[in-house]
Amino acid sequence: MTQPFDDAELGALLDRIVAAVLPTLGQGKVADYIPALAAVDPNKLGIAVTTVDGRQFVAGDARETFSIQSISKVFTLTMALELVGDDLWQRVGREPSGTPFNSLVQLEYERGIPRNPLINAGALVVTDAIVAATASNPPIKAILDFIRVRAANPGVRIDGEVAQSEKAWGYRNSALANLMKAFGNMKSPVNEVLDTYFSQCSIVMSCADLSRAILYLANGGTDPLSGEKIISEQGARRINAIMLTCGHYDASGDFAFRVGVPAKSGVGGGIVAVVPGRMGIAVWSPALSPQGNSVAGTRALEQFTAATGYSIFE
Ligand code: GLN
Repeated sequence: MTQPFDDAELGALLDRIVAAVLPTLGQGKVADYIPALAAVDPNKLGIAVTTVDGRQFVAGDARETFSIQSISKVFTLTMALELVGDDLWQRVGREPSGTPFNSLVQLEYERGIPRNPLINAGALVVTDAIVAATASNPPIKAILDFIRVRAANPGVRIDGEVAQSEKAWGYRNSALANLMKAFGNMKSPVNEVLDTYFSQCSIVMSCADLSRAILYLANGGTDPLSGEKIISEQGARRINAIMLTCGHYDASGDFAFRVGVPAKSGVGGGIVAVVPGRMGIAVWSPALSPQGNSVAGTRALEQFTAATGYSIFE
């Protein structure tokens, strides 16, 4: 890097990125495995940054809410690690899978132990750990509350129509959960875990919400604005490592190559990213690559780290 980036320029930079990426919209395909997501406008583009010292910058459609889908897996992983600690790693690995997010093939070969917590099978194990540990409460309430507090927005909610749709079309997720049950890697009743998982995927948030909610992972596990310790420093480092290596499924290597920060995508078109020590970032644009990651969102993040030098490899 020649000149260090002055972060007073962040607002102007986000505007420039949206202006540069908007004309390239039109590549990729909106998720169509459920009708509720297929109806989303592919021409949306939003980006938001929240810094560890509490400044927020937004551009484009950053205040519109969308289905967070697999981004929820980062929050549930945090909760499960706090609830069951390192025992979780007996049940789920931490290697990139190199396979699609909902693949069944590897799970059979590897005897019901998912490769990592950010593919669907792994996230189902994580949700099972939460369901098993919060038996007295509806577990989804604990998950929603956790995310509301992280986002400092009590209005964060579940889209009931998406949740119903996920359930009605959840054949693959149901197959994954049942296969793991057969291998003894699912403690709670399969339907309870699936219902909780479908509901967590159906949470709707904006880029502004998400960039705030992920801030604890940019600050060693402690929310820098409330002072609340969410997870240990080691735990935060590990989640960031897993996001970097596994957060984009079989395109995780390509994302690290192009963008270079820990991040997690969802098929709603959102991506949440962490610049350790500095900020949380969220982007949203619904059209997806064949691997299920936002095409324009990835491009926007690529421009962001190129302009700021905030890749972790800089
Ligand atoms: N609800 C989606 C599924 O389970 C989430 C997948 C994703 O966002 N990649 O298939």
